[in-house]
Amino acid sequence: MATLTADQREYAERAEAVAEEFTDDAYGWQGSVPWENLQRLAEADLYCPSISEAYGGQGRSDVAAMLLTEAVGRVCPDTGWFTYMQSMVGPRAIDLFGSEAVKSEYLPAVTAGESFVSIAISEPGAGSDVGSMSTEVTEEDDGTLVCTGEKTWVGGVPFGDAAVTWVRFPEGLGSVVIPYDDPGVTIEEVYTNMAGYAQTRFSIDNVVIPDSHVLTRGKEAFKRQLISLNWERLGSSALTVAWAETALEHALAYANEREQFDQTLDEFQGIEWKIAEMYRQVETAASLMYGCAAGAQGHEEPPSRLRTSTAKLHCSQIAEEVVSEAVQIVGARAYQQGHPLEYLYRFARSRRIAAGTDEMQLNTIARALKSDGLPAVSNR
Ligand SMILES: Cc1cc2nc3c(=O)[nH]c(=O)nc-3n(C[C@H](O)[C@H](O)[C@H](O)COP(=O)(O)OP(=O)(O)OC[C@H]3O[C@@H](n4cnc5c(N)ncnc54)[C@H](O)[C@@H]3O)c2cc1C
Repeated sequence: MATLTADQREYAERAEAVAEEFTDDAYGWQGSVPWENLQRLAEADLYCPSISEAYGGQGRSDVAAMLLTEAVGRVCPDTGWFTYMQSMVGPRAIDLFGSEAVKSEYLPAVTAGESFVSIAISEPGAGSDVGSMSTEVTEEDDGTLVCTGEKTWVGGVPFGDAAVTWVRFPEGLGSVVIPYDDPGVTIEEVYTNMAGYAQTRFSIDNVVIPDSHVLTRGKEAFKRQLISLNWERLGSSALTVAWAETALEHALAYANEREQFDQTLDEFQGIEWKIAEMYRQVETAASLMYGCAAGAQGHEEPPSRLRTSTAKLHCSQIAEEVVSEAVQIVGARAYQQGHPLEYLYRFARSRRIAAGTDEMQLNTIARALKSDGLPAVSNR
């Protein structure tokens, strides 16, 4: 892609080469953690690229994390998901906002591919309406911070160490790190989602939060945390584009092989047009997300919420559409349990809900347009 620097291109090429090693085991993980793949990426100095070097990352930009997620997710959808979650979500918040103590405690194991840090925002009574969350941190007379509440749908808990947990402080929303082995944390229910992964509801009962485990507190700090989510939305976009690409590759290979009516499927114009349409969707989505990222880099500011919500929405939707069309091209085989496309179909569906639903992205886009109008041409 024309927007990559020489260094980013070299990094992406290395990521693609290592990702190839994951081909044989791809689609076999379904619900488990591809630890060996994560450790292989760490050994190759590719994993968690945007996390600080001092804690085992490479101190690169978030664009590198997008490139890694796309390159890896295209070969192994599960490894791509872990790459995104650990490069751009929970551990990234610790790196950006944490104390030296909390960074040293959690990040080296994460960047070595040996541990997982979750993000805990949702609550039984607060899904899209994050502002109504009730998990709170109160300050006792001696200054001790104590957290009580409940979080749900949290990914990675059974194989993780801690969660970056959004909470309500007396002065408003903020975030803290809560370890799962604290005696005040109780796993209430472990659900299994459509892709086979655990999503957990846990309660937090009078958990003492050391100052070192407070990530953001106060309006300005939390505002910075919200801005950092714009990169997370681009990470989600890279993941879904990767999944759409791999679906298209499966469909292309099958259509080139399968014969009906004495010719291969890809000789039918109806199938050619489907393939061309799928590529159009993948390519416009990729251009949109990397365009957002390049624009942000060029202006030395985080990508805007308007643009990243648009990318997150579009990429999540095209992934579902492209995977579904790939299932259509492959036919009954793709509908059988154990087929890669059957798995991708279930996995891809999640992204229209996780990390902010389609409807929340649409609300954000409409709100931004109503208040600020369209971005200026000079702001491209
Ligand atoms: C695979 C997966 C992984 C997840 N991982 C995590 C995780 O690790 N940590 C975590 O904290 N959470 C996680 N979640 C939860 C996710 O963040 C929530 O599901 C999401 O925020 C929506 O909340 P909800 O499911 O309660 O839906 P609700 O908020 O109850 O919404 C239900 C429906 O109503 C729509 N809706 C709600 N309000 C409006 C409105 N104002 N206008 C129009 N439509 C509206 C929604 O868009 C949705 O379609 C995960 C979810 C999934 C599916």
